[in-house]
Amino acid sequence: MKRSNKPVYKTRIFWASILFAQFILFQILQRIPQAVSLFTAFFQRQKGLHQQLFGGVPFSVGDVLYILIILAGMALLYKSFSSKKALRSLLILINFVFFFYQIFWGMMYFRPPLDSRLPSTTVELDNLKDYAYKYLRLATAARARVAEDNDGVFRISDPELKKHIVDNQRNLPAPFNDNLTNKVVSVKESLYSGILSQTGILGYYNPFTAEAQFNKHLPHSFVPATIAHEAAHQLGYAREQEASFIGFLNALQSDNPDLQYSNYLFVLKNLLANIKRHDKDFVKNFMDSFPPALHRDINAEQRFVDENRSWLAAVLSVTNNLFLKINGQEGSVTYNHFVRLLDAYEKQKRLHPKMQSKKHK
Ligand SMILES: [Zn+2]
Repeated sequence: MKRSNKPVYKTRIFWASILFAQFILFQILQRIPQAVSLFTAFFQRQKGLHQQLFGGVPFSVGDVLYILIILAGMALLYKSFSSKKALRSLLILINFVFFFYQIFWGMMYFRPPLDSRLPSTTVELDNLKDYAYKYLRLATAARARVAEDNDGVFRISDPELKKHIVDNQRNLPAPFNDNLTNKVVSVKESLYSGILSQTGILGYYNPFTAEAQFNKHLPHSFVPATIAHEAAHQLGYAREQEASFIGFLNALQSDNPDLQYSNYLFVLKNLLANIKRHDKDFVKNFMDSFPPALHRDINAEQRFVDENRSWLAAVLSVTNNLFLKINGQEGSVTYNHFVRLLDAYEKQKRLHPKMQSKKHK
């Protein structure tokens, strides 16, 4: 038998084995609570460092990094049909990306869920209807305090909105104030906003640079809630519905009408979508009672979705669901989870009104 004199780390089989070993290792670590807390502590450090490095850069460094990784990956994949060396390089690249993704972010999906900090409740349809009235009232009040464009559609007027959202995370109520903060505002417009519009993606967190990106073409009513959601990821809340819930709490503790309105409208739409499955007539009558300004904003959102709908959305909603499933999530089916958190929060407030936090600077 001919023996190869290549060092082992230069072989494809070595890097394929390392990838497999990594996969097993993180599968094990996910199940060890102490390991997850260790990674949570590490997250706070690395995120702080990355935000100091990249927060001041006026464009999304992570978006540039993504395109470089994708281009390198595609070039190596193409070459690997004819070159064993290129295949090895591709395996090394995948190993690195997988490793840093896991240590910077992947483990955060395995933190104890937020439900564990709230009383366990059963969501009743009548509760949801009560909340719908409440958040319609709040959204209407906030809407009266915001600016409009020439078509009478909501327009963000606070130029310091990003900073307000990040700073206001300090005011999150107990038991959601883990003393986790973002010291640097690192919220950027996505360089891929055009593509995002076609996919229905509002924003995303980049685990490699700790930047939050949002689609700059979105109707404004989506934007403050999206930023609050992505900034919640920056606190280490990885799960989608939990990030939305933290974003909502941020708005509750804020007196900024742009942030309040966008979030209350988001809550309202969520509630109505949940109610609709059980009582269509209620939702129809309820929406007929909306003030005209809310109708104008919701129509603008719907127009945006209709104008941009493309085949990409269909493809991506499949891959996005797969991605969430890989991370132990339920994909878009977790939709109800936000409403369950809201329900538990509302009931807890009713039981312990004193537990609401006081605002502090
Ligand atoms: Zn998210």
